[in-house]
Amino acid sequence: MPTPSNDFPLFRQALDTRLPGSLPLDDYLQRGAVRLADHGFEDANTLGMVAVCRDEIASAFVTGVTRHWGKTFGCRSLGGFLLLGRSGILTGVSHAPLVGGRRRFVFFALPHIAISGEGEIGAVYREGLHEASHACGSLAAVLKELASGRIDPRTDFDDLEQCCVRQKLLSGLRYGEQPDLLAATRLACQIIREDGERLLGGVDPKVYDYAFMTGILIHGPDDGDWVYPQSCLLAGDGIPGGRQSIEL
Ligand SMILES: [Zn+2]
Repeated sequence: MPTPSNDFPLFRQALDTRLPGSLPLDDYLQRGAVRLADHGFEDANTLGMVAVCRDEIASAFVTGVTRHWGKTFGCRSLGGFLLLGRSGILTGVSHAPLVGGRRRFVFFALPHIAISGEGEIGAVYREGLHEASHACGSLAAVLKELASGRIDPRTDFDDLEQCCVRQKLLSGLRYGEQPDLLAATRLACQIIREDGERLLGGVDPKVYDYAFMTGILIHGPDDGDWVYPQSCLLAGDGIPGGRQSIEL
């Protein structure tokens, strides 16, 4: 995978100042696989699960996870929020293999943001389009509504995912607050982490060991992807202490 930051100094500067400690996608996944192998998670005994935005530019993340962890249960929703809910997650984990008396899965959940070669936050040039567009478009749409002063909080079953994204984000803001796209993405990351830890609390620790990984997926120039790591929680009776946070 390309990691062309040296060719794009303004991108590199934006990445280092706004999201310091970010890793090229392959390095992030490789480092995660090595650290999780120390705790018994390997491709052959572990199911991959991925919650990223539906945006096609986030698909490289799913491909990378599949390369490391094999067949991967899809949990994608607009914005990367865990809108598959309790039933979706419990369905996914029920597919985890049973090896040596334990079932294991690694669950990645990340919102995403683009940074252009010029260091512009949120801007991405998509294949076949000459104009820059935004990522994440779902979060940007909520911020646009906030800026307009008109928010419709009603639940629209013809636009269910975006309604949920709107409600999730608004629930994390103070009245009158108008975050920029990066701040909204950080907030989304925090909400996704809290939602994931709560939803995964319904998984039986006597049966399952799991890793729950959060962060921010960053799309740089020339299709280079990066990850700003946020958390890695291990849980289950096969984990010493039943629960630990590890650093990548
Ligand atoms: Zn998106």
